[in-house]
Amino acid sequence: MNEREDLSEIRRAVRALCEEFSGEYWRTKDRDRAYPAEFVDALTRAGFLAALIPEEFGGSGLKLDAAAVIMEEIQAAGCNGASAHAQMYIMNTLLKYGSADQKAAYLPGIASGELRLQAFGVSEPTSGTDTLSLKTRALRDGDDYVVNGQKIWTSRAEHSDLMLLLARTTPREDVAKRTEGLSIFLVDMRAAVGKGLTIKPILTLMNHSTTEVFFDDLRIPASALIGEEGQGFRYILSGMNAERILIAAECVGDAKWFIEKATGYAKDRQVFGRPIGQNQGVQFPIARAYAQMRAAELMVHHAAQAYDAGGNPGAEANMAKLLASEASWAAADMCVQTFGGFGFAEEYDVERKFREARLYTVAPISTNLILSYLAEHVLGLPRSY
Ligand SMILES: Cc1cc2nc3c(=O)[nH]c(=O)nc-3n(C[C@H](O)[C@H](O)[C@H](O)COP(=O)(O)OP(=O)(O)OC[C@H]3O[C@@H](n4cnc5c(N)ncnc54)[C@H](O)[C@@H]3O)c2cc1C
Repeated sequence: MNEREDLSEIRRAVRALCEEFSGEYWRTKDRDRAYPAEFVDALTRAGFLAALIPEEFGGSGLKLDAAAVIMEEIQAAGCNGASAHAQMYIMNTLLKYGSADQKAAYLPGIASGELRLQAFGVSEPTSGTDTLSLKTRALRDGDDYVVNGQKIWTSRAEHSDLMLLLARTTPREDVAKRTEGLSIFLVDMRAAVGKGLTIKPILTLMNHSTTEVFFDDLRIPASALIGEEGQGFRYILSGMNAERILIAAECVGDAKWFIEKATGYAKDRQVFGRPIGQNQGVQFPIARAYAQMRAAELMVHHAAQAYDAGGNPGAEANMAKLLASEASWAAADMCVQTFGGFGFAEEYDVERKFREARLYTVAPISTNLILSYLAEHVLGLPRSY
C-alpha cells in the first residue's frame, strides 16, 4: 500500500533528525537517568512537537495521522519519544476544549518551544486504574482554586512548564453520575513549584523521568480551568483516544526497530559456519513478529483515520493500543532471543529498547482494561468492575 506523499515526507524528515541522536547518545542518557533535552529541543525546533497546533498559533495544523507518523518514526529510528510524546496527546484536550484566551496565552509559546506542555496528572497511588475514584481535590475559593492531593507517575513533570491536571471539584457523593464532578486544569508549574507543588522523581526500569507530585494548598487561578467545571472526565476521554493511537504508533515503530535489528543480525552472525538466520528456528519468530507488526499497523492507521474524520473511535483506539503494544513486546522478546548473549550487552541498544518497550502493555492503560472495554462496549458483555 502506498503512503500519502506528505506522510512519507514527514517520515524522511523525522528520520534525518533522529540520525543526529545515535545509540551512544541514548545509552548515556539511560545510564545517567538524564532527560534527553537536546533531542526534545531538536524536535521542537523542527516543529514536530507543534504538529497538531493550528497554523494561526505557530504550529503546522496537521492531523493525528501525521502526529502518529512522527511518533512511529522516532521509535523506529531507535530514539525514545517518551521524552516528548505527552505534548502531542495532551494537545487535543486543549485544542478541543480550551477557551480562546487559553489558546492565545499558551499555544504560541508551546509552538515556539518557549513553553513545554509535557506533564499529564491523572494517575493516583490509591485509585489506580479506577480514575473516577481519584482523590485530588480542587475547591473554588474566590478567583482561585485550591488544590490538595497527590498524583503518581506524572512523567516529565520536572521538564515541563505546564501540566494538564484532572481533579475532583465536586465530591463524588454529590454528583448524579460517577463521571461528573471532575475538572481539567492547565496548571502553570513554573509559578507553583515550592508554593504548594512538590515534585519527587521515581526511578524506574527505564529512563522515563517519571515523578510523584504533591499538592498542598496549591492556589491556581480560576482561569486555569479548561471548559466547564465538572465535565473534565468527558473531555479527557476524547484526549485519551488520541493518546492510545499515538502510543500504538510508537509501539509499531518499536516493533519495526526490533525486526530490522534482528533481521540484520540474523544475516550477519555466523554460527556452525552459516548465518543464524538460515535456521527456521531463528527466521520464523522474526517473520511472525513482522506479521503481527503489520496487522497492528493497519489498525493504527484505521484508528487515526477514524479520529481525524471527526469521530471518537474508542474501540479502534483501544484495539490499536492492544495489538501494537503486544506486537512491540513480542518483537522485543524475539530480538533478544535472536541476539543471544549480545542481546544483553548495552552497546547493541537491544536491552535498552527491550526495557523501554515493556511499559506499553501497562501504560497508559493496561491490556486487561482494554479487554474489559471491548467486552463491555463492543460485545455487550456484563460490566466486570
Ligand atoms: C513509567 C510510567 C509512566 C507513566 N506516566 C503517566 C503519566 O504521565 N500520567 C499519568 O497520569 N499516569 C501515568 N502512568 C500511570 C499508568 O497510566 C498506570 O500505571 C496504568 O494506567 C495502570 O494503573 P496502575 O498502575 O494504578 O495499576 P492498577 O490499577 O493498580 O492495576 C494493576 C493491575 O491489575 C489489573 N487490573 C486492575 N483492575 C482490573 C480489573 N477490573 N479487571 C482486570 N484487571 C484489572 C491491571 O490491568 C494491572 O495489570 C505511568 C505509569 C508508568 C509505569
